[in-house]
Amino acid sequence: MAAQFNIGDIVWAKLSSFPPWPSKIVRPKKDVKKPKGKKPVYFVFFYGTEDHAWVKAENLKPFEEYKDQMIKSNKGKRFHQAVEAVEKVLRKGGGAKRGRPPKHSAASKSGAYRDTDDIDHEEVVPSSKPVQKTYSREPLLGKTVSPSTSIGLKRPPESLGAEASIILKRPREDNESDLYNFDESEHETESDIVTSKDDITPTCLKIGFLGLGIMGSGMVRNLIKTGHSVMVWNRTPMKCRDFVQAGASIGGTVTEVVAACDITFGCVSDPNAVRDLVFGTSGVLQSIRPGKAYVEMSTIDVETVQDVAESIESRGGRFLEAPVIGTRKPAEDGMLVIVAGGDRSLFDDCESCFLAMGKKAFYLGEVGSGTRMKLVANMVLGSVMAGYAEGMSLAERAGLDLQTVLDVFKEGPLNCAAVRSKGDAILHSRFEPSFPLKHQQKDMRLALALGDELKQSLPVAAAANEMFKRAISLGNGDNDMSSVYRATAL
Ligand code: NAP
Repeated sequence: MAAQFNIGDIVWAKLSSFPPWPSKIVRPKKDVKKPKGKKPVYFVFFYGTEDHAWVKAENLKPFEEYKDQMIKSNKGKRFHQAVEAVEKVLRKGGGAKRGRPPKHSAASKSGAYRDTDDIDHEEVVPSSKPVQKTYSREPLLGKTVSPSTSIGLKRPPESLGAEASIILKRPREDNESDLYNFDESEHETESDIVTSKDDITPTCLKIGFLGLGIMGSGMVRNLIKTGHSVMVWNRTPMKCRDFVQAGASIGGTVTEVVAACDITFGCVSDPNAVRDLVFGTSGVLQSIRPGKAYVEMSTIDVETVQDVAESIESRGGRFLEAPVIGTRKPAEDGMLVIVAGGDRSLFDDCESCFLAMGKKAFYLGEVGSGTRMKLVANMVLGSVMAGYAEGMSLAERAGLDLQTVLDVFKEGPLNCAAVRSKGDAILHSRFEPSFPLKHQQKDMRLALALGDELKQSLPVAAAANEMFKRAISLGNGDNDMSSVYRATAL
């Protein structure tokens, strides 16, 4: 029988890929849903990180009893800060049972102890009820939870469906530039959510990465930094040099990378590039066999991603689509949002990689669901950007000072990372690519095709697409997507 704990007990809580962490059993609010599964779980507060998660009882150990052993096996600075935080609480008399061993009989009645920290929790914990699978800290503030399974940071779910995602916030640092921080979703730079990658335990699987463009470069750097064993390939081989210096090995061909690696990620321009990469003469398929896995991170259409999935699976390999939301800066910072669909076991196996590359990974279901999600997100982004560019042009034509326009926007409901960073780009005519305009237009095109297929009218996106096409014809394809402004300022 799994050990039983009470509210306030100080424990070691273990989430997969992370070391056991000094924690406390606390009460969740009523609207924080418990994870699926029959095994009892406890709601836990992590010292030092201030995260919360559901943790299976079998992954909890009493604090005092295991303290020496745990401290010996973890030398990390953040770990020791967390231990100190617990010791401080214990010195002050906090912690319902001061980390003593729990009862192993059913006699212990949970909820007998009040939480001693000022953490907002309400409900008694042990439970095995099947429910929604994920939440962040937000539900603790009374918000609703997302129904999708996700991996979040700083602490990951233990096993998907049984654990929660956690997001931490930090104060904004003064030297952070907005200009090229903009992510397709506002919250990347807007909320300043960040994670320390210190605690990631890299998978021992060998990782391949194909495509070292703006996005691939950032993602690979974070894989290397977090200790993953990575082999890279890029169509233009010169681009591999820096990554080899940083610790990656290099594959001569795509086939060679897939042959040498357990999981290979791809992130290239568009559907044609993906087809070349996968179906080409020295492509991914040549090395796919049982035991091999391929993860497609490029933004492409549903048909292409399904073709790739079928081909990989027909050769006994596993496939996952995992397009990303977030641009150059979030890719560099490991703050992407990953929207995945396909083989669930592969999603699980990618956990430490997704933690390295992103702040949150959603598992959305069958192949195609991640791609649809990504296309909707980028269609909205493109429509917003086109409307914004038009507004700036109108403001200019009306004789308004654009800096003042931006200042006004920043004080009102339009204050978001998109408006700030892309506004600055327009103002200073700085269109170095963070998200190349040609890729944004490709995403508009693919989203409109999805709308055609589903007979969904998309008049605003269609008009925005025309603006992006015009911007390309004016020579802005390789510039940042904010240069769509140039298509309006004529
Ligand atoms: P990028 O900087 O333009 O890089 C494109 C990559 O694709 C390069 O590595 C390029 O190789 C490779 N490539 C192009 N055609 C190829 C082919 N036929 N065969 C093999 N490799 C080929 O693009 P990115 O910004 O990294 O974007 C990559 C993907 O992520 C795209 O699908 C994009 O829509 C998506 N995405 C981008 C952003 C963003 O903000 N940038 C955000 C989210 C999603 P070479 O180096 O040899 O040219």
